[in-house]
Amino acid sequence: FARLNRKGKSRDELAGMGETFNEMIGLLEESFVRQEQFVSNASHELKTPLTIIESYASLLKRRGADRPELLEESVEAIHSEAVRLKGMTEQLLLLATARRAWQAETEKVDLLPFARQTAATFGKVYEREVTVEMRGAGPDRQGKAERMGDAVVERGDGMPTQTDPDMLKQLLLILLDNARKYSDGPIELRLGSEGERFYMAVRDNGIGIPENELPHVFERFYRVDKARSRDGETTGGAGLGLSLAKELAKALGAELTLESVQGEGTTATIWLPAT
Ligand code: ADP
Repeated sequence: FARLNRKGKSRDELAGMGETFNEMIGLLEESFVRQEQFVSNASHELKTPLTIIESYASLLKRRGADRPELLEESVEAIHSEAVRLKGMTEQLLLLATARRAWQAETEKVDLLPFARQTAATFGKVYEREVTVEMRGAGPDRQGKAERMGDAVVERGDGMPTQTDPDMLKQLLLILLDNARKYSDGPIELRLGSEGERFYMAVRDNGIGIPENELPHVFERFYRVDKARSRDGETTGGAGLGLSLAKELAKALGAELTLESVQGEGTTATIWLPAT
């Protein structure tokens, strides 16, 4: 400041700079704390499946030869925890590079066949029924145009949007996977338009999210009920899916909304500009 002062800065200017400097330090500190928290959470999440793998492996090492019945259980546990670990590591890697490195490579994508294909693959892999429904599709499907929500779309044009299909698929898969994990019934994928936007809504009739938890579920590592999310292979999320989904939506210039009623179900919606 003494040096700056010699260059003729006024007292007010200096005070202003001092304030900005303090604000920057504050932001940096906050960012370091968040970073530390992230590393600590990540290590904790990675440690849990690793501990399980380690104990089953050492059990096999000690007793495997004389107790062959242990084999099936141990291999099953090691395998499912390794799968979980792999998924988590992939999510962590994606999140770590999200802000810096994600470049959406956009092309024209027709959302209807895109949704149908993604839903079909997902349904087959997880043996779950995923219905795809186009909302507001008018009766004049035979005619030149069909009505979808507020927009009349020329037949053949479908639901065209300019987007990165790989990233959009990843985003949609996260939402479908949550619907799968937190419900038992069929999953609905609804498509339609509102104003100038198309939407893809993933709807389930599962356990839902309590209202007071709803604002937090996009935070990294946040799980509504840790025990519930952990009981077994299929629900063993680390609370990273929705934060990844949010980053993906941001990179795509899309909006992601979540509505949920505890005990009734959840609807997660991706909003994209119609082109
Ligand atoms: P996870 O990998 O644990 O599923 P997410 O970030 O995807 O993490 O979701 C955060 C939390 O939000 C979940 O642990 C779960 O408690 C809740 N949640 C997300 N989607 C749903 C859904 N469709 N139904 C009920 N709860 C959900």
